[in-house]
Amino acid sequence: MVIVTLQRQKCIGCNYCVEMAPHQFQMSKKDGKTVLLNTTEKKGFYTLKSNDYAILEACENASKACPVNIISVKIN
Ligand code: SF4
Repeated sequence: MVIVTLQRQKCIGCNYCVEMAPHQFQMSKKDGKTVLLNTTEKKGFYTLKSNDYAILEACENASKACPVNIISVKIN
């Protein structure tokens, strides 16, 4: 399983994650922060769990590109 976590409150809205993984991330017009799609939220951490390993590379690229290091990608 691919597990992607976003610590959303610290997002500075640079849009890199959206460019790297447009099927997983979308920029919010409301607050200018990114939204990780299909997540559950707990204490400000948004977590996506997926069995689709095709998303792994894009999500890892988003994680590497994020200038404030708030995207983590794990395999479980
Ligand atoms: S790359 Fe990081 S700071 Fe930039 S929009 Fe995505 S989560 Fe926010």
